[in-house]
Amino acid sequence: MSETAQGAAAKRLSAVLERMAGAARRAGRDPAELTLVAVSKTRPPADLQTLIDCGQQHFGENYLQEALPKIGALQPHRLTWHFIGQLQSNKTAPVAEYFDWVHTVDRLKLVQRLAAQRPFHAPPLNVCVQVKLGDEPGKGGATVGDLPALLEAVARQPQLRLRGLMTLPPAESAEADQRRWFAALREVFQQMQRQHPAMDTLSMGMSGDLEAAILEGATMIRIGTALFGERLQSQA
Ligand SMILES: *Cc1c(COP(=O)(O)O)cnc(C)c1O
Repeated sequence: MSETAQGAAAKRLSAVLERMAGAARRAGRDPAELTLVAVSKTRPPADLQTLIDCGQQHFGENYLQEALPKIGALQPHRLTWHFIGQLQSNKTAPVAEYFDWVHTVDRLKLVQRLAAQRPFHAPPLNVCVQVKLGDEPGKGGATVGDLPALLEAVARQPQLRLRGLMTLPPAESAEADQRRWFAALREVFQQMQRQHPAMDTLSMGMSGDLEAAILEGATMIRIGTALFGERLQSQA
């Protein structure tokens, strides 16, 4: 890895961490409550390595075909891997086996399969249930009405650990509009916490809206382009 690439990656990472800290200050929150997940879809292992050298530990991947070789290649670093892509029910086994977190559980069938396929020697798989707030066809996510049954099903499985909720809201350019979606998820989260007080994770906010998400209570931020530059063609 060239020194310039390393320097550029370090700069982008500290810029993102500064944006997160700035938003936390505005919200009166401790930046230490925030986890940055580096979304490394389409990026080769060398690009992840530059961030690992800067201390980054959490990585998010959308496509199994490209994620599994990276997880294998980077195994000595003991990273924490987050599956954040749409999950087909016939592809749950590698998620259960190789990932630490999954953010996109949105139906019962996935809950049952992930629980059955999580290896017994592994710690429970951390689960966020994805919630669909807008009305966008083709996008994953459970409805708010589906949540009580779905959260109960996750909480009942010893091989799974219910951590919280995730959303991928419609793109908005104004911060006030971004905040409305995130506030809606936070309200649902607080309501569901009454039944599931152990839930501690609100996975929301990307490169274009991380400030709005943090102002509304995000604890896990998923950042791709602001860390790696514009997306490369998907390899999946
Ligand atoms: C790609 C992706 C991100 C990162 O988006 P950026 O705008 O590149 O920061 C976050 N979450 C999910 C689910 C994604 O698919």
